[in-house]
Amino acid sequence: MTHFEIAVVGAGMAGLTCAQQLHQAGYMVAVVEKSRGLGGRLATRRLEGTHADHGVCYLKPKDDRFKSLVNTLVDCAILQIWTDTIHELDMNGQIQEPRERSSRYASPMGFSAIGKFLATGLHLIQNQRVETIELIDQKWHLQFENNSAITADSVIVATPAPQALTILESISDLDFLQKLKSVQYSACIAAIALYPDEIHSLDWKAIVCPHDSDLGWIALDSSKQNSASQLVFVVQSNAAFADRHLDTTDLQPVGQHLLNKAAQFLPWLSTPQVLQVHRWRYAFPIQPLSEKYLTANTELPLICAGDWCGGDRVESAFLSGLATAEQMNSQLQQRPLNEEFWSATPCG
Ligand SMILES: Cc1cc2nc3c(=O)[nH]c(=O)nc-3n(C[C@H](O)[C@H](O)[C@H](O)COP(=O)(O)OP(=O)(O)OC[C@H]3O[C@@H](n4cnc5c(N)ncnc54)[C@H](O)[C@@H]3O)c2cc1C
Repeated sequence: MTHFEIAVVGAGMAGLTCAQQLHQAGYMVAVVEKSRGLGGRLATRRLEGTHADHGVCYLKPKDDRFKSLVNTLVDCAILQIWTDTIHELDMNGQIQEPRERSSRYASPMGFSAIGKFLATGLHLIQNQRVETIELIDQKWHLQFENNSAITADSVIVATPAPQALTILESISDLDFLQKLKSVQYSACIAAIALYPDEIHSLDWKAIVCPHDSDLGWIALDSSKQNSASQLVFVVQSNAAFADRHLDTTDLQPVGQHLLNKAAQFLPWLSTPQVLQVHRWRYAFPIQPLSEKYLTANTELPLICAGDWCGGDRVESAFLSGLATAEQMNSQLQQRPLNEEFWSATPCG
């Protein structure tokens, strides 16, 4: 069985940030990810020769270290300023200019490019869902869905809290398990819709819909690309709508309903050439923990990380990843950590 010093479960922003920093410090790290792609909710769907961000909509950095990562990604041409204007749908269903304008960043290649950047040089085990993590004979055993396994001296679980809970049932630290259980998530359903390019240009790129009964966000997603050949819209539901439809087997009519509602502004939105629908069961943490990581009281190190540790956005996942790497390093060999490891990561 392959053995690593540190196993990280989850290749989202938190897991990759943490893994990359520990890897650059010289630890032997493996990242296990259940999906084919990298980035977690920094997700990009490829369809019909184009792509769309059906998870994260944009980045608006506040913390200096996150700003520094964003600047590095801009230098690598992975990110660029997308817009400073997000319109708002008011109570009367009218599109209003925003009161506040500030730069929002997006990737012309799609947000999953950030995942690829952060994964540079890491030992990745993709398409493998971790089923259980157990301490056996002084080693962590990570059992995969397909019955294979790896072992590790230390483990970082960087998944949404409810997913961490399902794989950490064997842990006897009740306080730790209680904290994991306390973090609930709201859901989101995203419709990704493609239209022919001849449709006239719009005077908005995105609309946030805080008062609508079903809609959360409407974006001309292809406006993030430098030379888009097709029009791609992403329409996301609000949490209440997603809750009502979360376990619906056929999501196509659910996605069509979101487009029909968005068609109140642009009638042709209800007749896409292609419609795909994605269900995010764990979209945004409700009542995140105030701590940047959650440590279990176990014989060998085990730490949980993610957006739910300190916030509910990509930036909080990133800060949680950094804090978790520091904490793990302090429990291990206390090697010097490069505080801005992203500046030492090649653009790819
Ligand atoms: C629709 C939507 C819109 C959003 N918009 C924005 C936005 O505009 N701006 C913003 O800042 N944030 C936004 N967010 C929130 C943002 O996506 C998250 O806060 C952030 O990406 C979380 O990163 P993470 O690393 O904590 O978790 P994730 O990105 O969820 O990564 C966790 C990873 O763990 C993997 N995993 C889970 N269980 C297992 C297992 N058992 N074995 C192996 N792998 C496993 C998952 O596949 C995933 O890749 C949005 C989220 C959604 C869903």
